[in-house]
Amino acid sequence: DTIGENLDRAVRAFPGRDALVDRATAHRWTYAELAADVDALALGLLELGIAKGDRVGIWAPNCAEWTLTQYATAKLGAILVTVNPAYRAHELEYVLNQAGIRLLVATERFKTSDYAGMISEVRPRCPELEHVLLIGGPDWDAVNAAGRRADPARLAERQSELAPDDPINIQYTSGTTGFPKGATLSHHNILNNGYFVGELLAYTEQDRICVPVPFYHCFGMVMGNLAATSHGACMVIPAPSFEPGATLAAVAAERCTSLYGVPTMFIAELADPDFDRYDLGSLRTGIMAGSPCPSEVMKEVIGRMGMAQVSICYGMTETSPVSTQTRVDDPVERRVATVGRVGPHLEVKVVDPATGRTVPRGEPGELCTRGYSVMLGYWGEPERTAEAVDAARWMHTGDLAVMDGDGYLAITGRIKDMVIRGGENLYPREIEEFLHTHPDILDVQVIGVPDAKYGEELMAWIRMREGAEPLTAEAVRGYCAGRLAHVKIPRYVHVVEEFPMTVTGKIRKVEMRAQAQRILG
Ligand code: ATP
Ligand code: MG
Repeated sequence: DTIGENLDRAVRAFPGRDALVDRATAHRWTYAELAADVDALALGLLELGIAKGDRVGIWAPNCAEWTLTQYATAKLGAILVTVNPAYRAHELEYVLNQAGIRLLVATERFKTSDYAGMISEVRPRCPELEHVLLIGGPDWDAVNAAGRRADPARLAERQSELAPDDPINIQYTSGTTGFPKGATLSHHNILNNGYFVGELLAYTEQDRICVPVPFYHCFGMVMGNLAATSHGACMVIPAPSFEPGATLAAVAAERCTSLYGVPTMFIAELADPDFDRYDLGSLRTGIMAGSPCPSEVMKEVIGRMGMAQVSICYGMTETSPVSTQTRVDDPVERRVATVGRVGPHLEVKVVDPATGRTVPRGEPGELCTRGYSVMLGYWGEPERTAEAVDAARWMHTGDLAVMDGDGYLAITGRIKDMVIRGGENLYPREIEEFLHTHPDILDVQVIGVPDAKYGEELMAWIRMREGAEPLTAEAVRGYCAGRLAHVKIPRYVHVVEEFPMTVTGKIRKVEMRAQAQRILG
């Protein structure tokens, strides 16, 4: 199926059931209503001359129109480029030109950002950008009205020209290890991934999924939207961007059965002062993904939130995204210490990055994944694609992992963050976890810095707890002495207020390494 055919199937099966709820505008759609609005928008864009393969950008926080645009472009075979709503003008300009965006959908409804102002600013330098539609604005209304008057047969004709392997989506990676790369994904890539996520959580048309994670990333648009429509379930959008109270209120009011989040979102919800006032009794399942989850948080999500069947997923933008997952019947310890086992119809292996040979179980190496989910390539960057996806179609994730005897994987860090000191491989994650035990340390990140004698030396960046005196290198080394192998003890210590972060909330060690070189001269 293509994504459009998959939606049509849900509409035929469940026309009267809820498909989408937008809490910010208090609007709701049944599957039949959703289909009518998607088709109107698709036909309107067709009337504007949007062709198969044209890039259509969407630059907006979570809202129902985001989802309508996702399905309308899928029905047209236009490639949806999902633009991070936190981007500033220069980042927008890069994406508009890199992907060659012809039409951009943006919004003025949420006064979080001056989208229209930034678009006007960059537009003279973006020759391929022909149309801008502001959601709810006069042009948006005109396109939808034209679509309602248009002949539906034109859309059916277009849909019949599409194939599941056509590119349908460009998503940019978070930019944690460098400049964001645009992963080009097909209907087949993301629709199957959404479908299998829905199977994992045993979704049916009875399920109502609360999605506070951003749509511009796979977590929202694939594990949310596509998992929902491929099972006839309902998507609930609690707020344009994450707010713990609004999320809990949406679960309670809409009787949601499933809730998504990155670990920090669940931490914020559990810490909400009004937590006990919300009736979360309808929750049974959900997904936590994106970064490692502390065990205490997992226990509270299962216990206090009642999400007995919550799953941890691991993946990346390039793999649509989910590659491994914990199953609902995995014991809690497995759901905390690992990212589960490989998903259906996918393969994984852990290799020595130097030789490419598979390492024995229990030993760390680079995680590689293969199967339907691997992207078509990085948009316009064949060299970078060839570095990431080898001739046998294995995706080299750049993540370090250990696989145990039962096939459960633990992610131990990123290759680019591994430090080689005097020929010895050091894993910052292990040293960070040890330093976390120091009572004055709030948070810590360890990086490698160039060294004439050893090749690299370790440097710890430390955020102190409130009221604690900044730690000196001697104090840190003293704390480690005798408790951490000598080679793992950081030579340098740098106390900071904040770490450099990406817009998706990940720590940018590349930037830390650049700054460290300046600090050390
Ligand atoms: P870039 O590729 O631009 O440097 P990025 O890799 O952070 O950025 P994403 O595709 O958003 O961009 O994130 C995928 C990465 O997130 C994975 O490669 C992995 O390092 C990390 N990750 C995802 N899920 C988990 C998880 N459950 N546990 C630990 N790490 C995870
Ligand atoms: Mg990456």
